[in-house]
Order: sequence, then C-alpha cells, then structure tokens
Amino acid sequence: DIAGTWPLANGVEIPYLGLGVWQAEDGAQVQQAVKWALEAGYRHIDTASIYKNEEGVGQAVRESGVPRTDVFVTSKVWNNDQGYDSTLRAFDASLKRLGLETLDLYLIHWPVAGKSQDTWRALEQLYADGRVRAIGVSNFLQHHLEELLPEAQVKPMVNQLEFHPWLVQPELQAYCQQHGIQYQAWSPLMQGKVFEQDVVNDLAAKYGKSPAQILVRWDLQRGVVTIPKSVKQAHIVSNANVFDFELTADELAYIDGLDRHERLGPDPDTFPG
Ligand code: NAD
Repeated sequence: DIAGTWPLANGVEIPYLGLGVWQAEDGAQVQQAVKWALEAGYRHIDTASIYKNEEGVGQAVRESGVPRTDVFVTSKVWNNDQGYDSTLRAFDASLKRLGLETLDLYLIHWPVAGKSQDTWRALEQLYADGRVRAIGVSNFLQHHLEELLPEAQVKPMVNQLEFHPWLVQPELQAYCQQHGIQYQAWSPLMQGKVFEQDVVNDLAAKYGKSPAQILVRWDLQRGVVTIPKSVKQAHIVSNANVFDFELTADELAYIDGLDRHERLGPDPDTFPG
C-alpha cells in the first residue's frame, strides 16, 4: 500500500515510501511534484533547508486538501547551521518557510565534527517541546553513531543514508537495527543510473516492471524507507506502483550482491570536512 507505514522507535508511524525533492526547483516545479505525489497517494515528502524549496513544498502540502496529520514532512538542518542555538533558529526558519506548525521528522543532514553533539541537543529540545514528532540523523556512519549515542537522551529514530545496489552497507544496516534506528535510503534510484544496471533490467523484464520499481521494491522488502525523486508526473506515479509483485529471497540477495562500496554522493568522512 502506497501510504503504508512502519513504526519508529517512539511509535510514530513513518510512511515507508516518500517523494524526494532534492534539485526540484522552488515554486511551480516542486509544488506540482508534491501535488502529483499526494494525488497518487504518497503521504511522505523529504525536503531540507539546503534544497531551497521548503516554501513550495509547504504550500503544496497546505493546499492539497490532504489533512496535515496524514502527510509526513521531513526537513534537515544544514551543516553551517549546526550548533545548539543556530539549529533552533534554523528549525524555526524551516517551519516558517514551510508554513507548518510542526514537522514530522527533523534530521541532522551531515555529521559535522565537534558540532553534531550540540546540534543533537537542540533536536532533543525541539522534540521535548513537541515541535517535531521524530528526530534523526543523516549520513551518520557507525563511528558517528558510536560518538553520538552515549551522549544522547533520545536516540535518533532514523538514519537517512545513500543506499542502492552499489552501496549496501549491511553492517551499518545491522547496527542501526540493533539500536532501533530506522534505515532510510537516499538516491535509491542511483540518481537515474538504475536504468543502466543489467541485473535490475533483467528483473524488470521478468516482472514487467520498470528498473526503478524493482529498486523501490528491493528497499521495501529490505525494511528500508525510501524516497525516490522525480518531478515528472508519470515517473512519480510509476515509482510508487510497486505493490503488485514481490521479489524472491534469492533476487533480493542477488541485488545485495551488486555491492561495490561505491558512492554517487559525498563520503560522510570527508564531507563537509
Ligand atoms: P534518485 O536516486 O531518487 O534519482 C532521481 C533521478 O532519477 C531523477 O532526477 C530522475 O532523473 C530519475 N528518475 C526518477 N524516476 C524515474 C523514472 N521512473 N524513470 C526514469 N528516470 C527516473 O536521486 P536523489 O534525488 O539523489 O535521491 C532521492 C532523494 O533523497 C532526494 O530527492 C532527497 O530528498 C534525498 N537525498 C538526501 C540526501 C542526504 O544527504 N540526506 C542526499 C541526496 C538525496
């Protein structure tokens, strides 16, 4: 079910399929994309202050006619806003741009050495104040979590990471699972490179689905929340049309086996530096 959810550690339900809007232009483009997604049944939108499209996302959510409580909206604090006070201010600014009273999920976008502990305390404060329903991190490797967790009053509920057949990180998945941290995939469609993967194309042919649908299905069957991005209506609709087939255990393992430990995006150990 496109609007289906999984419970986070605090009981808040996260829709396991969402729309990513990185590189969707603010204004008409992002508004249309969010509108089409909500019409198609998506109930989860992933933005960030650095995407510079929170205004359009918020406007589309507010004007959609879908009750606010039915839509899960995520934003993220950008690196140069990290630190306790500056994170509180960044959160206020994001909410104001979105035109929303509360957020569903607020993430530390990237680990920043020497700052993420203070940033996390700010997220805990926002959570305690009821201004956000769940808090988490993004791009945290195991060693980043090992530094954060002993200091944390509230454990991160989500870790959003680059995840696709070239970067599976099974040990990190297992570590997150042990700590009750929901794994979430960014760039689940390999930023479009999914269409060049022979194994995925073969599975697509077998099931009469698109390669994008195969990877979205792989994410969901692996228990990974996924946020494929598109601004085209046909792709937004089709990327979520994954509930009429099932990959076998062997096929899931076969896709896992494509792992090349290769990133399409920055390495959390060297970015932002
Ligand atoms: P993605 O893997 O979702 O790929 C998106 C691209 O694939 C689109 O631009 C489009 O060109 C193509 N595409 C999508 N559906 C298609 C279809 N059906 N047919 C043909 N082409 C299609 O890439 P992404 O945007 O990098 O990742 C998804 C989301 O993850 C982002 O929008 C953002 O919300 C989030 N993200 C987070 C971080 C982070 O640091 N936390 C980093 C990158 C992305």
